[in-house]
Amino acid sequence: MAIRRTIWNLLFGCRHRELSRAFTNQGETYKVCLKCGAHLPYSWETMTVVPERERKRKAGARS
Ligand SMILES: [Zn+2]
Repeated sequence: MAIRRTIWNLLFGCRHRELSRAFTNQGETYKVCLKCGAHLPYSWETMTVVPERERKRKAGARS
């Protein structure tokens, strides 16, 4: 299960699925993991936590 956990971490930043509601602060929208406190960027467009690779792709397109 270690590999699956690693993939989950890459996608969502942590392995938990118990998240707070979405917060918006200083232009950043995110959910907070209730287990470990990780901040997970959240998209109102897709109504989901934004995967890490998607964030990197968008950041690259912007610069
Ligand atoms: Zn967590």
